Amino acid sequence: MSRWVVGLDIGGTNVVVGLVPAGGGRPAALRTRSTPTLGPRDVVVGELAKLVAEVVESGLDAVGDPEGEVLGMGIGCPGPIDLEAGIVLDAFNLGWRDFALRDALAEAVGLRTILDNDANCATWGEYWQGAGRGARSLVGVTLGTGIGGGVILEGRLVHGASASAGEIGHMSIDFHGRRCKCGNYGCLEAYASGPNIAARAREGLEAGAESALTRLVGGDLDRLTAATVYEAILEGDAYAGEVMLETAKILGAGVANIVNVLNPQIVVIVGGVTRAGHYLFNPLRAEVRRRAFKSAEQACKIVPGELPQTAGVIGAAGIWLAAHPQA
Ligand SMILES: [Zn+2]
Repeated sequence: MSRWVVGLDIGGTNVVVGLVPAGGGRPAALRTRSTPTLGPRDVVVGELAKLVAEVVESGLDAVGDPEGEVLGMGIGCPGPIDLEAGIVLDAFNLGWRDFALRDALAEAVGLRTILDNDANCATWGEYWQGAGRGARSLVGVTLGTGIGGGVILEGRLVHGASASAGEIGHMSIDFHGRRCKCGNYGCLEAYASGPNIAARAREGLEAGAESALTRLVGGDLDRLTAATVYEAILEGDAYAGEVMLETAKILGAGVANIVNVLNPQIVVIVGGVTRAGHYLFNPLRAEVRRRAFKSAEQACKIVPGELPQTAGVIGAAGIWLAAHPQA
């Protein structure tokens, strides 16, 4: 009989659910839908539970083992979390506050369930099944609407005193810098998240920079996104190249801080920004080399994630397994 764990990755836009083999490997089934943020909480829980049931059924069906055993479920969710109580404290992108998601969903699906931060889950996914396989100390940086992170040292996920360790996006990289959504100034996220890459590009265009970007958004700079910037780079646009170069240097400064503080073997960068490929990674690595301690920099590989779309799902299941070694 096959053995499985459900992984549930709740994002600001989409929910991804997968049925992950307990021994590792690709999910047997994967479903995505828009995140059900609206409505009473029992409705939200009901919709998530329905999605989980569908994934379990279709996954076991796909592998031809309808009697397969589902051991448990891991949930990754944004925002500060009360790990012990399984409560989402404040996921402001979802409008969820003090939501006892873990126990409500565990009851609805009838599975032992664990809840952790979404970036921790993505980091664990890459550590267990992706770019970090074989490493003992790894830091994940998730670049998207925001910037998150996860820290694994000597094979253990670091949660810290109140489970908010790894908030890499909110390290200050410019003392007098841009205002961040979190209330601080000069956070890494205020420069290098997707929306802030777009915002920096827009500011330059408004100040008169010449670029194919203006044409790509039909003259409406409000439509500019980080994806438009990559598109323009691929067209050979010099200004978009400058924006990406600066983004890479900013991220490099942040990664150099991580490398100096934690001395990881691998820093894995996860998210859409990695589509910029060597336009991102070459100057990012160069910046880390320029800033970090030589011995720490030389011991560290900086790589893109290997599990686009599924790192969070695989990692959520993996975190459940790591917490239940007897399962
Ligand atoms: Zn911040």
